[in-house]
Amino acid sequence: MASDIQTRIAELSQQLHQHIYHYHVRSEPLITDAEYDRLLQELQTLEAEHPQYRRDDSPTQRVGSDLSGDFSKLRHPAPILSLANAFDESDLLAWEERNLRLLPAGTQLSYILQPKLDGLSIVITYENGSLARAATRGNGEAGDDVTANVRTIRSLPLRIPVEPSSGDAPDRLVVRGEILFHKADFLALNEEQAAAGSPAYINARNTASGSLKQKDSRETAKRKLTAYIYAIVDSAGPPLASEWETVQTLQELGFPVVNDTARFANLAEARKALADWEARRDSLPFEIDGLVLKVDDLALARELGVVGKDPRGAIAYKFPAEEATTTLRGVTIGVGRTGKLTPTAQLEPVFIGGVTVSSASLHNYDQVKALDIRLGDRVIVKRSGDVIPYVVGPMPAARDGSETAITPPARCPFCALPLVQPKGAVDWFCGNASCPERVGRALEFFVSRGAMDIEGMGPQTINALIAARLIDDIADIFTLQGEPLLALEGFAQKKVDNLLKSIDTAKGRSFAQVLTSLGIDGVGSTVAGLLTDNFAAMQELLDTANAIRAAEAEFSRVIRPIMAAAASDDSEAERQIARLQQPTTELVPQLIDASDLNQRLTRRLKALLLSANDIARISQSLANLIGVSRPLHVIEGLGPVLVANIVDFFSDAHNRSVLAKMLAAGVNMRAEEKALAGDGLAGKTIVLTGTLSQPRGVLKSLIEANGGKVTGSVSKRTNYVVAGESPGSKVEKAAGLGVPIIDEDALRMLVNG
Ligand SMILES: [Zn+2]
Repeated sequence: MASDIQTRIAELSQQLHQHIYHYHVRSEPLITDAEYDRLLQELQTLEAEHPQYRRDDSPTQRVGSDLSGDFSKLRHPAPILSLANAFDESDLLAWEERNLRLLPAGTQLSYILQPKLDGLSIVITYENGSLARAATRGNGEAGDDVTANVRTIRSLPLRIPVEPSSGDAPDRLVVRGEILFHKADFLALNEEQAAAGSPAYINARNTASGSLKQKDSRETAKRKLTAYIYAIVDSAGPPLASEWETVQTLQELGFPVVNDTARFANLAEARKALADWEARRDSLPFEIDGLVLKVDDLALARELGVVGKDPRGAIAYKFPAEEATTTLRGVTIGVGRTGKLTPTAQLEPVFIGGVTVSSASLHNYDQVKALDIRLGDRVIVKRSGDVIPYVVGPMPAARDGSETAITPPARCPFCALPLVQPKGAVDWFCGNASCPERVGRALEFFVSRGAMDIEGMGPQTINALIAARLIDDIADIFTLQGEPLLALEGFAQKKVDNLLKSIDTAKGRSFAQVLTSLGIDGVGSTVAGLLTDNFAAMQELLDTANAIRAAEAEFSRVIRPIMAAAASDDSEAERQIARLQQPTTELVPQLIDASDLNQRLTRRLKALLLSANDIARISQSLANLIGVSRPLHVIEGLGPVLVANIVDFFSDAHNRSVLAKMLAAGVNMRAEEKALAGDGLAGKTIVLTGTLSQPRGVLKSLIEANGGKVTGSVSKRTNYVVAGESPGSKVEKAAGLGVPIIDEDALRMLVNG
C-alpha cells in the first residue's frame, strides 16, 4: 500500500515534469490544461495525505512561471497569487468549513462570484493616473516587462479616471487583470490566417500570450487583444472594505470589468448560481474555464491568509473539462442531402465533461489541412453544450513520424463520381443529384415529422426502397404501387396498406409544408410561410426563378464586353466589377427602389470610367432584372442570400423535373385561399416602420386579413407607410416619393372602411 502510493507520487511527478517542460520550454503542450490540473490535484492530495513521500523536487513545490529571456523583469509590489481549485460543490463546502475553523466562532461569510477568464494574467501600475508599467505574472514575484505592448490594448485606459468627474485616482494604483481574445476576434484572426494561407491558431490563450510577448509592440497592436481588470494589488488610495467595493471602484475609474460579478449573502446562495453560469458559458463573448469565488470581506480574507501560493479567501470552481486529448484512429465520410461531404474523426474513446466521446466533427477538409491534422495524431477534442464534439487541433509535439496526411477522396464513396469543390467554398460536394446517399438523406428529411410527416417511412424503409430501385427521388414516393412493395422482404399486406395510406394523406399537406420539406438551404417553416403568402402556387415560384435566371444571363451578356474594355486597374474598380458579376445579391437588393437607376449607376460605377451609352445599357438590363426579381425581394424577411438560394433551387433542371412529377402525382402545390375579414385594404401595399404598439406579426396579419400586403421596403408602388415611434429612413424615403405616411389609428380606420 505504502509503496503503491510512493510509486504513484513518483509517476505523477515524472509526468508533470514532462508536461511542464513541453508547456513552458517548448510551447507545445501534450495535454490540455484541465488534464494537467487533474494530475496536479491528484499529486497535491496524495502529498498532503502522505507528506513523508513528498520529494523536494516535486512539481507542487514550484510556482508556474511564464518568464522568457526576451524581456527585462519587473518586481511585483506584492506576490501575485494563484488559486486553489474546486472540482465540485463538495470541494466548495470543504473549503468554507476549513475557513470557518480559522475564524472566530459565529463568523458569517458572504461571497462574490466572477467568471474565471481563460487568459493571461497581467499586473499594471498607474502612477498619478497614468499607465506606467505592465508586467506578466511571471513567477509570482516578478514578471516580464510588457509595458509597451500592453499600451496597445485599446480597452485598457492609459489614464484614470477615464471620466474626470469620477474624482481623483490614487497617486499609485496597481491592478491585476486578464488579457485574452474575445471569441469573435479569435475567429476573425483565424479567418485572416486562412486568407493569407497561414496555419490556423489552435489555442486562444496561447495565442494571446504569444501576441503579448511580441518584441515589436506594433505586432501586438495588430492583434485584437482585450483585457478585463478584477483586483487591486496595491493602492495609495483609501482602503476598501470588500471585493464588491473593489469591483465598483475599478468600474468607476474606467477599467474594463466583467459586468456579471455578483454578490451572495452565503455559500448556499452562491452555489445556486453555478449551474446558471455553466449553462451560459458558450454564449459568453470570452472563454471561461470556471468561476472564482471570493470571500467578500477583505479584512476576513486577510485574516485567512495564504497557504503555499494560494490565498485561502478565494477558490477557482472549475467546470467539468470540455477538452481532452486522444488519438485520431480514422476518418469516416458522410454525404448530406445537399451533397456536402462531412469528414468525421473516429477517436480512441475519451471521457469529456461527463460523456464518453468516440467520434467528433472535423468540419471540412480545408480546416483539416489548415490545422494540419494527421491520421494517428494526438488531437484535442472539445465538447461544449449541445454542440457536436469537434477536433480543435493536433498536438504536433506528440508525433512519432507514423502519422499520415488526411486528404479528401477523389470520388464520392457512395456513387463513385468525382467530387467537386466549388470556387470559394470550404466544403467538397458530390454533385450527383441521384447519388444514393444524397437521395437517402433528402428522403429522410422529406418524410420526417415537421416536413411531410409520412408515417411508416423510417430510414430502413427508405434504404430498402432505394436498394430495390423503387424510388430515385422524393417524387417517386407518390407513385409507389402496392405490388412491387409486397415483393420486398418484410412488407406484408397491412404494412403496405398503411404506408400507401399515409403517403396519400401527405399529398394533401399545405403548400408551405411542401416547401419546407424540400430542404432548401435557409427555407424552414417561417420562410416557407412568407413564400406562400406571396406566391399562390408552385408554378409562380418556378416561373419567377426562371425569369430571374434568364434576366441574370441577359445581364451578364450585356456587361461582359463592357467589362472587358473597362478600367480595372484600381481596387475600387475591381470591387465594382465583382458586384456587377453578382447582380442578384450585390445590386438588386440595394437598387430595387432606386428612382433613377441610370443616375445611381453612374455614381456607383464611376471608377470604371464607362461611357453614358454603356451605363444606359447596363441600367436597362438591370431594370429588367429588378422587375422580375421584385416578387421575391420585396418580401420582408428574405435577405439577398436566401433569395439567391431560392432562385438556385427552383431554376435547377433536376429539381424542376422532380417538382413536375410531384405535381402530376397529385401533391398539393397551391396556397389555400385565405378567408378575408374584410377588403378595406384590397390591393394595397403597406410598409411598417418604427416601434409600433403591437408586434409586427399582429399588424401584418390584420393587413393581410383585409386584403393588403406588407413589404419590407418603400417604393413608388407602396400605398402607405405606417410609422410608429422613432421611425427610420423609410419615412424620409416615403416623403421623397410622395407615399402617404399614416399612424396605426389611420390604418385601423382604413381597415374599417
Ligand atoms: Zn455521391
